[in-house]
Amino acid sequence: MKEAVSSIYSPIDKLETVGPKRAAELNKVGVFQISDLFYYLPRRYLDRSYIGKIASLKDGQETTIIARVVNSELRRGRRNRFHLYVTDGTSYLTCVWFSKLTFWLRVFKTGEWLALSGKVTRFEGLQMIHPEFDRLGENAEGELVHTGKIIPLYPSTEALTKSGFDSRGFRRLIIKLIHNYKDKIEETIPADIITRRQLMPLADALAKIHFPDNWEILYQARERLKFDELFFMELLIALRKKHNHTDSGGIRFSKVGDRVKTLIDNLPFELTGAQKRVIREIYTDMKSSRPMNRLLQGDVGSGKTMVALVAMLIAVENGYQAALMAPTEILAEQHYYSIGKTLQPIGVNTVLLIGAQNKAEREKILDVIATHQADIVIGTHALIQDNVEFNNLGLVIIDEQHRFGVIQRARLREKGLKPDVLVMTATPIPRTLSLTVYGDLDVSILDEMPHGRKPVLTKWRSNRQRSKVYHFLRDQVAAGKQAFIVFPLVEETEKSDLKAATDSYEKMRNSFFRDYSVGLVHGRMKSTEKESVMSAFKNGQIQILVSTTVIEVGVDVPNATIIVIEHAERFGLTQLHQLRGRVGRGDRQSYCILIAYGELSAEAQKRLDTMAATTDGFKLAEIDLELRGPGEFFGTKQHGLPDLRIADVVADIKLLRTARKDAFNLVANDLQLAAEGATGTRHHFIKNYRDKYDLAWVA
Ligand code: ADP
Ligand code: MG
Repeated sequence: MKEAVSSIYSPIDKLETVGPKRAAELNKVGVFQISDLFYYLPRRYLDRSYIGKIASLKDGQETTIIARVVNSELRRGRRNRFHLYVTDGTSYLTCVWFSKLTFWLRVFKTGEWLALSGKVTRFEGLQMIHPEFDRLGENAEGELVHTGKIIPLYPSTEALTKSGFDSRGFRRLIIKLIHNYKDKIEETIPADIITRRQLMPLADALAKIHFPDNWEILYQARERLKFDELFFMELLIALRKKHNHTDSGGIRFSKVGDRVKTLIDNLPFELTGAQKRVIREIYTDMKSSRPMNRLLQGDVGSGKTMVALVAMLIAVENGYQAALMAPTEILAEQHYYSIGKTLQPIGVNTVLLIGAQNKAEREKILDVIATHQADIVIGTHALIQDNVEFNNLGLVIIDEQHRFGVIQRARLREKGLKPDVLVMTATPIPRTLSLTVYGDLDVSILDEMPHGRKPVLTKWRSNRQRSKVYHFLRDQVAAGKQAFIVFPLVEETEKSDLKAATDSYEKMRNSFFRDYSVGLVHGRMKSTEKESVMSAFKNGQIQILVSTTVIEVGVDVPNATIIVIEHAERFGLTQLHQLRGRVGRGDRQSYCILIAYGELSAEAQKRLDTMAATTDGFKLAEIDLELRGPGEFFGTKQHGLPDLRIADVVADIKLLRTARKDAFNLVANDLQLAAEGATGTRHHFIKNYRDKYDLAWVA
């Protein structure tokens, strides 16, 4: 026998009406414990006071009706169609579908109730064409009358529906849940905050979000649940930040060192004002005893590498090693060559560690690192493998940090003893997101381009204009410039995309660009091959480089002034901007030409127009965020942050600010959440966020 009422944290099958089979289906949608069911939120609501009666509907009216299925049939004619006949007792209505006819034939059951929304038209009686619908079950009528005015509709799957969890099944289960378990819900927000912010108590909110008395109460319930999510996310951030800021066990890099000055004096260019300022900010961190945890944001081409180089040299001057991790081998190699070349004359020893090196080579490099013969180590993920042992690692730099997960960044950090950490990114974070995504980092921004840069001229063209584009490209190359032609490769394993790139390469090489030297680089080539193609491009032997998106991040060849991006409609804005950043790195006018294929969606069109209109990375990021929404734009998981189910960091920015203030206040006064009023907060945090806190000091 099951207990009548279990703990709210018991597995879901402790509920009377949930056996192992139904539990398994619920597990699949994230419901494991009884408490999770409270958070299985309605997808939308029906307002019964706005539900029309068929008899009084007018031609052209947009409405929702609740009606029972009477019959259905396929109708043949000039256009084949599927007819579904329904009634609500006042009259009859026909729903019409013109496509997927046999599919629809199997969907509906005679006698079941549906909520149907759409536009009513009069054509041989009343009809709705392709209505939106929700299935309410077979005895919906009686039940709905008792549900109240606002009826919750739940997300469901075919498998759930089979186990009895259609919208109605969920409603019945949740009504019972609220009845038996509402009183067991522990309040998660301290009472003084509840009062000050006039929040609905959690138990009420979790009941009313399912069965609200009216829209105002639903709004309040939602606000309360949103506040919870945002508050705990900010609490996590506040704890991380506090933890980091009270740690005084880091390294003091006490001097800048003579060679730093020598280096800067001998650069072929003057540092930008922004570079100087950021270097000062970084050095202030480095000489303090608190471990640095800083993010360097700078648009593509703003000169982040130079800043990283100076920071690394400071570490070396103080007797420490420095490590720089990059997301691709091409980028690691490029950093290795340019940094090595700059530092070698002043006696700093740099090594490269990447996966592609053979065993003997690798053994030697590992030894050079472990014995501190190398001052600076540059590499890929290879750096974080177990057998890599540093000798006094004092500074860790992570380039294009969004390409790495939290764990990988933590691993590199753990190779040293509380080393300073600098993460760099060229993906600007819109201000709205910076409160959350980087809420626990100190931020430096390179907001100035090196002197003499001209914005890249960007155009988009349809593939019918392709030969014109290629003529232009040929003229430019004839005039001594170099070009990229990029093909999309969503996954390095997508064979068909890869084939498109290699086929086009063969074609170009043998026909249109016959008189030029054309190279090919993609992610599935051997490292040594990639390396030799890249260096041939760098020193001008290759004039046109056909590539997949492996060149997306960081590749720096200032003489390349044209980039043609094929199938540009397939790329996101951020990625297009990154790719475009491969040109415009010198002082000559550069061009980016986006080639789009086929019919474009409105969103794709907007992306391409935006690219043509602006080269400002921050502006682009804001628009990208608008187009894609925050979840897509920036994976919260990557940052070790919780997923938000109901709140939206952009739309709910005001609530976010309030929640942030309250969370930071709480932590400032009570780091352990030990006060009596915070008991529920502590419990909830430990239960749901503890694992993320353990990644606390991971930038
Ligand atoms: P990103 O910020 O995209 O990583 P890089 O560090 O690769 O940019 O720098 C882009 C190019 O600008 C490089 O060729 C670099 O040598 C050059 N550069 C960096 N700082 C300056 C400067 N102050 N003046 C002129 N060129 C610079
Ligand atoms: Mg870079």
